[in-house]
This record gives sequence, C-alpha cells and structure tokens, in this order.
Amino acid sequence: MIISNLPPAHTFFFAHFKKLRSEPGAVTITDILTREERSALMAKVKGKNTKPEIYVRKYLFSKGFRYRINDPRYPGRPDIVLPKYRTAIFVHGCFWHGHKDCKYARLPSTNREFWGDKIRTNIERDKRNIELLEQEGWKVIVVWQCELRNRQLREERMKRLVEEIKANREPSDRSPRRNITDETEES
Ligand SMILES: [Zn+2]
Repeated sequence: MIISNLPPAHTFFFAHFKKLRSEPGAVTITDILTREERSALMAKVKGKNTKPEIYVRKYLFSKGFRYRINDPRYPGRPDIVLPKYRTAIFVHGCFWHGHKDCKYARLPSTNREFWGDKIRTNIERDKRNIELLEQEGWKVIVVWQCELRNRQLREERMKRLVEEIKANREPSDRSPRRNITDETEES
C-alpha cells in the first residue's frame, strides 16, 4: 500500500503496524483502528480517492457549483477555483499547513526542529499565496482537515462553505455581462 503525505504520527503508527503484523499471533490492523479509520484505510488500499479535497469538490459539485482544480495559473494552485464567485478554496491538512492552535498540528516530540522549520516554511508559502490571490481580487477560503473529521462537522462546514462562497457574489454581479470562466484580471 502506498501512503503518502501523512504526518509523522501516522508514519509512526504504520511503522508500528508493520512491526505488529510481523509478529506471530499479532493483532491485526482492523483491531486497532476505529471503524472510520478502517474504512478510510481500506479505501486507500483499494486506491479510491478519500482525500479531503475530493470530498469538498464532490460536495460542491452536488450543489451545482462548477470549478477548476489545481489550476497552476493561480498562486498556490488552489484545490478548488470557482471563477463565477471569484473564490479560491484550499483544503489544508492541519499538520502540514500548521493549523494554529489545532491539536492535529502538534509537532512530534522527535525532530521538532526539522518539522518546525518545514511547517513554518509551508505556513509562509500559504500566506504568500493567499496574499497574491487577494491582491488579484480573489476571495480565499481555507477548509481545514480537522473541520471534516466527522460527519456532523463535515456537514456543518460544508453548509458554511456554501454560504461563504455565495456571499462572494454580490447581487450586482449576477448579470451575465462577461465571461468569467477564464480570467484572473477581472476587477
Ligand atoms: Zn486543524
């Protein structure tokens, strides 16, 4: 199985899992994961896309939104770009993007300096990209992974997201006066 972009806690976990598995009579991974974690893992093993950004995209699509994904023309290649609403959305993992005051963003006790530098670099880069987008007139919304960690939170976050997106389109913008599917310089 290929598991990438996981924070060190998980890295540790999988290392631990390998050890467990290699021991005769060891508990299996299904014994030590919650149902949710298990299905997420199984989906990963099967190669299904369970990434949070895919969840957000699918939700927005189901609500009739149309968007571009990871378009390199925009600073930071946002996960979702909604030209009609002039809105860019990033779906950020709490650890890698250093979610402030979030328990999922805690640095591991080992190699703290290494991870600290790495995460700080990411935070700086994110900040720069958001500033660039805003300078070009884009509204930027960040959805944090921890906001999607269970069904109730996910549903609440998605409702709020839709409101945030719609708020970015003033009534005066509703006329079909221009083609806004392809420009970044609209003002
Ligand atoms: Zn978080």
